[in-house]
Amino acid sequence: KRKQVKEASTITKKLIEGDKTALSQAITLIESTAIKHQAIAKAIIEQCLPYSNNAIRIGITGVPGVGKSTFIESFGKLLITENYKVAVLAVDPSSSVSKGSILGDKTRMEELVKEDHAFIRPSASGSSLGGVARKTREAIILCEAAGFNCILIETVGVGQSETAVHSMTDFFLLLKLAGAGDELQGIKRGIMEMADAIVINKADGDNVKAAKLAKTEFNRALHLYPPKESGWVPKTLTCSAITSEGVDSIFKMLQLYFTEVKENKYFQEKRNQQNKYWFLQTIKETLQRDFFEKPSVKKELELQLNKLQRQETTPFEAAQKILELR
Ligand code: GDP
Repeated sequence: KRKQVKEASTITKKLIEGDKTALSQAITLIESTAIKHQAIAKAIIEQCLPYSNNAIRIGITGVPGVGKSTFIESFGKLLITENYKVAVLAVDPSSSVSKGSILGDKTRMEELVKEDHAFIRPSASGSSLGGVARKTREAIILCEAAGFNCILIETVGVGQSETAVHSMTDFFLLLKLAGAGDELQGIKRGIMEMADAIVINKADGDNVKAAKLAKTEFNRALHLYPPKESGWVPKTLTCSAITSEGVDSIFKMLQLYFTEVKENKYFQEKRNQQNKYWFLQTIKETLQRDFFEKPSVKKELELQLNKLQRQETTPFEAAQKILELR
């Protein structure tokens, strides 16, 4: 145990000096399934905690192809000129299956990668969203301890991962495209409702007019939602991630947001809520995993499923049998 704490201290010391190699190393330890690595990772996180919590955390989502990585490249570079140190993380539970990987492609964010004040890390692999989300939460702590004061967390605009990213960020940005006439289609209500801003990307060339139209449409749609707890009225903007036009307005909007929510105390309130959520979530997930991994449960589960199939039991009766094994 003492050896692991010592090993952790060596990495932590370099990490809090801003050493990106140490940061990468620490995140790799978080992601490792080896018990020994997990022990070192745990010690590093504990040592880093006092140095974290001092960044702004922004979630960025949108369907594949909307321009997330192009946008992050452009926005990230702007943030750096504004004296931010930018870390880019991703939540993509599908990335272990290789094809869905959002940051796996090394050619993405080519320019941002070269920046001293940028750190880019692909999504942790793992089939469970809970596992990937936990690793990302921990990676945020490490990035902050390493001096990164703006954390961008990318996720794909499909499925459950938005909820996870929403519950670990201060601001949630949804990237959209102007579609010919279908501006309001294909948007999951829940995701729209979570958004603090909708940015219509690819507002360049022939697309400018359609983007402006889409902006009006989305703005109207956003007003149909109940007011946010933050007091913030979600904004709709257009930009071109390729030409960087409009990206500065997004930065200005964020400055306004953070001024507002720090003034009205919502900033800390939301972080407290998020901590509570992750605390309970971790307990639930751990109990659930441990329960289903019990050999007796596995065996009985198969038995009851077969009975259910043959209609020899009811779902409730079968569940009762399993729950008796708690
Ligand atoms: P992601 O899958 O959401 O990360 O999308 P990418 O950033 O990989 O972009 C998908 C495609 O859209 C690429 O070919 C980009 O060059 C292109 N693209 C991204 N942003 C813009 C933009 O603002 N304008 C135009 N015209 N193309 C863009």
